[in-house]
Amino acid sequence: MSRKIGSRYTANQVLGRGSAGTVWLGEGPEGPVAIKLLHEELSSDQELVGRFVQERTALLSLDHPRVVGVRDLVVDGNDLALVMDLVRGTDLRTRLDRERRLAPEAAVAIAADIADALAAAHAAGIVHRDVKPENVLLDMQGPLGPGGSHPALLTDFGVARLVDAPRRARPQGTAQGRVQNPRSVIGTPDYLAPEIVEGLPPRASVDVYALATVLYELLAGFTPFGGGHPGAILRRHVTETVAPLPGIPDELWQLLLQCLAKAPASRLRASELAARLRELLPSLAGYPPLDIDEPDEPGAEPEGRYDEAPTPHRAPTAEEPPRRRGAVPLVPGAAPDSSRETHTSMRVPSPDELAGGPHGTARAPRVSGQRRAGSARNRPVSEAVRRRRVRLAVVAVALLAAVGIGGWLASGGDDDGDPPKGGEHSAPANPGDR
Ligand code: ADP
Repeated sequence: MSRKIGSRYTANQVLGRGSAGTVWLGEGPEGPVAIKLLHEELSSDQELVGRFVQERTALLSLDHPRVVGVRDLVVDGNDLALVMDLVRGTDLRTRLDRERRLAPEAAVAIAADIADALAAAHAAGIVHRDVKPENVLLDMQGPLGPGGSHPALLTDFGVARLVDAPRRARPQGTAQGRVQNPRSVIGTPDYLAPEIVEGLPPRASVDVYALATVLYELLAGFTPFGGGHPGAILRRHVTETVAPLPGIPDELWQLLLQCLAKAPASRLRASELAARLRELLPSLAGYPPLDIDEPDEPGAEPEGRYDEAPTPHRAPTAEEPPRRRGAVPLVPGAAPDSSRETHTSMRVPSPDELAGGPHGTARAPRVSGQRRAGSARNRPVSEAVRRRRVRLAVVAVALLAAVGIGGWLASGGDDDGDPPKGGEHSAPANPGDR
């Protein structure tokens, strides 16, 4: 089934579905294109359409071999569509799902491509704000590079911000002058830099942090601070240090640590990261994927928080499919329409919530098959204790959900259409503000 998009394009076949819309294989005057047709609920939002039109120049201006170019923006009746370069291949999430972990050389080659894309964007004053494997496309028709990797391209520039800002973001302030930081953020919990969680405006360094998180995930098979309730993930970004990956080449580890620094100013710039990653590539040739286990049971709270004897690490049962490491919506009802968990808007937790867990090192991954000596997770757990833990976990999740919903309601809900009044949520007047 094909359909006309504006006067110049035809959408012929669905390529994929994302949180903001459906991506079609299409045809334009200059040949095949990818057309992202935004959901009707978005395209009927006049304010949102206005933002896209206002940002048209910025969206169309980024021209770099590692950026999926936006060629056109079509506003036609109920249709709001982004016409993009067609990338024949797959996204990085799909590859990661298939292979679980990549060899260091391939992972670093992909990260270097994305660092190049970010360097170009940052030079143009554009911050991506939603770097994650779902937004990296692998061009299977491009030449094979180091580690047998196809060229990687970054997509969805600005889309998350434009789509989410008018509908969900709302700064907090009161007539009594208790003006707070803006309390909603845009992004995906696993990849969010700590300064965003703390309510600071997102600068280019948030993309470097997110890219370092992606690189860690490509190497380890899981993100450094992911797992469990989104609030717990956000808290870990702020309070925990990243756990070392057994067997990782030291220079690569030092680079990761530098880019996962809590202080934005301590991170490398994207251009520096790209250069350092490419320098490392020759030394990584032939390195096998790291042989490590995921550290903790998904969803487990930090040890000792609710109970003395946490459930030991275990593989999911047949009835319990493995949990995807990815974004978890924090806003009630904000689940995307695809099976993929993807970016979302979320409420920034209060300092009390952030301070809720013990500070320290993130749960350390282990060499595959090994148990951590002395870890509480290695102790046998009685059935009674296990049941108590489950009850406490249910209560804790309910409490966290109540706090989240309460905060959302207190902010007057998301969909009141108030234009954002400042902070990172407003659409900038010019791309240099991003
Ligand atoms: P999300 O909202 O999860 O980031 P998208 O809406 O950007 O996802 O894309 C959904 C799917 O459509 C992707 O997983 C990818 O397979 C496909 N896709 C997106 N953009 C392109 C493109 N420019 N060329 C080819 N396929 C694309």
